[in-house]
Amino acid sequence: MSVPDVLARIRDAEAQSGRPPGSARLVAVTKGQDTDAIARAVLTHGAFPLGEGRAQELRDKAAEFTARGMAAEWHYIGPLQRNKVKYLKPVALVHAIEAEWQAEAIAQAAAGWGHAPDVLLQLHNGEAQKHGIPAAELPGVLKAVRDTGLTVRGLMVMAPDVEGEGAEATIRAVFRGAAQRAHDLGLSELSMGMSGDYPLAVQEGATLVRVGRSLFT
Ligand SMILES: *Cc1c(COP(=O)(O)O)cnc(C)c1O
Repeated sequence: MSVPDVLARIRDAEAQSGRPPGSARLVAVTKGQDTDAIARAVLTHGAFPLGEGRAQELRDKAAEFTARGMAAEWHYIGPLQRNKVKYLKPVALVHAIEAEWQAEAIAQAAAGWGHAPDVLLQLHNGEAQKHGIPAAELPGVLKAVRDTGLTVRGLMVMAPDVEGEGAEATIRAVFRGAAQRAHDLGLSELSMGMSGDYPLAVQEGATLVRVGRSLFT
């Protein structure tokens, strides 16, 4: 696969579900890839936002991009630890806020940077995973995060790690539930779908798909 192949599958999934072309945007997940590989495999095809899951790696890559006169919109897609917030200065969007303290730490750091990233709230996906905000707690966390001054643009969810018969239905139900929650809360962005399941995510309303491996193999 390559960026054009992935974009074609996104366009197909949009058409299948009656969504206008371009309603789902590709976030190119570049963790583990060096600057030359990113330039060759991703940026020759367009100015896609770049997603990184490790804060120091993001900081280092953003610095290298700047040194080489290259531009990028950086998204931080990983879980956020307190001592890593300082590396997020280049970031435009943080995908996986799961607690009020994370938003407070970002807002505090952003005061020193002179600009703040926007954020998405990560919804818990119902399986026994430790990450994400339970649906019942979303309205409260949304209010608390907004009170820090950050702009909440939407929700993010990870597909549950299931395989075999019924897996697709289970994943689809999680994506559909996330779309419903975002709609109920009046949030317009929905980050969901990875290499294994992004067409499904687009059919269910994703506005941002986080695809890595498929772009580089
Ligand atoms: C790595 C990662 C992705 C991309 O996964 P691929 O399977 O490489 O497409 C998406 N989202 C998150 C949070 C990730 O850590």
